[in-house]
Amino acid sequence: TLSVIENGQKRYEELAELDKKHFFHPSTSFKLQKEQGPGLVFTEGKGVYLKDVRGKEYIDSLSSLWNVNIGHGRAELGEAAAEQIKKLAFSSTFAGNSHESVIQLAAKVAELAPGDLNYTFFTSGGSESNDTAFKTARYYWKMKGRPSKKKIISRTKSYHGVSVGASAATGLAPFRDFPSLAPDFHYVDSSIEAIKEMIEREGAETIAAIISEPVQGSGGVNLPPQNFFKELRDICDQNEILLIVDEVINGFYRTGTNFGIDNFGIVPDIMCIAKGISSGYAPIGGMIITDRLKEELTDLTDGVFMHGYTYSGHPMCSAVALKNLELIEQEKLNENVNLMGAELLKGFQYLQQTHGGIGNIRQIGLLGAFEFFKDEESKTRYDEPFAPKVVAEALNNGMIARAIVYEGQDTLAFAPPFCITKEEVEKMISIVDQSISAAKNKA
Ligand code: PLP
Repeated sequence: TLSVIENGQKRYEELAELDKKHFFHPSTSFKLQKEQGPGLVFTEGKGVYLKDVRGKEYIDSLSSLWNVNIGHGRAELGEAAAEQIKKLAFSSTFAGNSHESVIQLAAKVAELAPGDLNYTFFTSGGSESNDTAFKTARYYWKMKGRPSKKKIISRTKSYHGVSVGASAATGLAPFRDFPSLAPDFHYVDSSIEAIKEMIEREGAETIAAIISEPVQGSGGVNLPPQNFFKELRDICDQNEILLIVDEVINGFYRTGTNFGIDNFGIVPDIMCIAKGISSGYAPIGGMIITDRLKEELTDLTDGVFMHGYTYSGHPMCSAVALKNLELIEQEKLNENVNLMGAELLKGFQYLQQTHGGIGNIRQIGLLGAFEFFKDEESKTRYDEPFAPKVVAEALNNGMIARAIVYEGQDTLAFAPPFCITKEEVEKMISIVDQSISAAKNKA
């Protein structure tokens, strides 16, 4: 086994050299990459586990980027991809052309989506889906003869992606630290009062749409205030503002219902999707609009909707997404989300009782988080965030964990694959348990 470890280390070092020279990573420190090379170099995945080039296994507690919902290593999805590529690798969906897989996928999405959200535009991911939604909302008002309705309002702590438009909509300030993002984006605190005030101040006649995640993901797994979406729906209706819901993380069962918004009993005008639709096996996202919006656009415009990506409705991505949704249903993994979500919550409560200094526990389906405090009662934070220290220990202990420290938070977030078992939840919690103790001992 020694030679296996040595070989793994050697291979890591070879790859690290090339990585450092040539691979410009997303969301990565240039300095850290230069000094330390790549973090983990992954080679394999199976279920809730990832393996790296050194041969060490890790529990993937966040389904990688909240996206590998079905779990790693599902050969059936590879087979669906291969079959589609062998038959029809690519064909354009521009100018009204179509193909079988994308038609079936659009119909499947309509079946799952709430209300009359039945008409889907496809993209390659979440940022493109949100950009498409912003352009569609602005186009709609322009076509209705009201081009001044163009502002997009989003919530603080929201994350909507990194394209020029999607980063302009993102409420987390670090993502907007670039000059000249898109104009006419405004941010508002997550309270109905604040939203009403903003509409009053800016004028409803200048606002095209409000965008919100049902449960915020990257901003810290934040549940909306009580009745938030019911009231938001009313406000949007009263002020003729379109409501866009960003389901990129929530969508396709992550919160235990088909879509996150199903927990809150309303239907938005536009819904953006990505990640879970293909469990990350292929890059695909989309924007779903209501029949009402579709009919209005049809009546309003004689021309062409001049917006589309080369890979809108990509055949292989569509086939993989279809197979992914079929397997999740067949194997009742969507039902497992609620069962294992309850186990996850039990785990959080156990950690809180064992360690103290843990609070603000939240969980909905297989999406959960809790926060660290030096003193939980007075909600006093540590001088330096504690969650990243737990993440570092967890890595030693065989788990990839995610800390969220934006805006003074000190949060550990969880979104494991839907295939997780009770034993695997317990193992994950036990690793966190040990890692908290180890981090405390070093403090
Ligand atoms: N919207 C939400 C809620 C997200 O969580 C993400 C990605 O994490 C995005 C949009 C952006 O998606 P993508 O990275 O596929 O462009």
